[in-house]
Amino acid sequence: MRGMLVAGNWKMNASLQSIETLINGIKQGLESVSENCGVVVCPPSIYISKVNELTQGSRILLGAQNVCEEDKGAFTGEVAGTMIKEFNCTYAIVGHSERRNIYRETDELVAKRFAAARRAGIIPILCVGELLEEREAGNTEDIVGKQLDAVLALEGIDAFADAVIAYEPVWAIGTGKTATPDQAQEVHAFIRSKLAGISKDIANNIILQYGGSVNGANAEELFAMEDIDGGLIGGAALKAEEFLKICAAGK
Ligand code: PEP
Repeated sequence: MRGMLVAGNWKMNASLQSIETLINGIKQGLESVSENCGVVVCPPSIYISKVNELTQGSRILLGAQNVCEEDKGAFTGEVAGTMIKEFNCTYAIVGHSERRNIYRETDELVAKRFAAARRAGIIPILCVGELLEEREAGNTEDIVGKQLDAVLALEGIDAFADAVIAYEPVWAIGTGKTATPDQAQEVHAFIRSKLAGISKDIANNIILQYGGSVNGANAEELFAMEDIDGGLIGGAALKAEEFLKICAAGK
């Protein structure tokens, strides 16, 4: 039976001082979070080492915000899966919409990054989601389907036995506009049934997170939906109290 997973994507926010306050705050409130809900923080890569120290002995798991598709070499500015693994990262986000849309990472590149994470023994959190104009044109399933197909083509269904998918409608990220629980559930059900068409077992077990303006007030109704198994959280992950409220909704 799959559990719940809440991951905080700090994006390019934090400082040495704020990290300490945030991690200590999360640690102090963890007793309000069910054991069934995994708690993950994804700091900017330069802070992973520090957050690794601060989270030692706690149940907070660590994730990176991206991973290079190559394992080593002349790739200035990139971070390899083996490097983040050395600092205890269990997860790595790949294909976040900010990477796809600002840095032009294609479906194929994202698939290679997904593969690189797995080669390093890291669980990829694969982000998928449509732009507002794609939703309005009725193309949501087409877009999300293609994003999944690129990974399926490169890695096959078995790779999803050890992966997480985060459905993040781009129009809901950082905008304060959350998908309604029904809108989110509809796409989550589509993702699960698409995978079930290849392997029922993998589809039943995979964690499907929702992301897009989740906060302490709306997490419970989103996470109550049948196919929503927690969330990938941006802005609300930067305040311990708010992040803990969201984690506590993961029952
Ligand atoms: C995100 O960055 O993955 C995200 C969902 O951001 P926010 O919660 O701020 O919308």
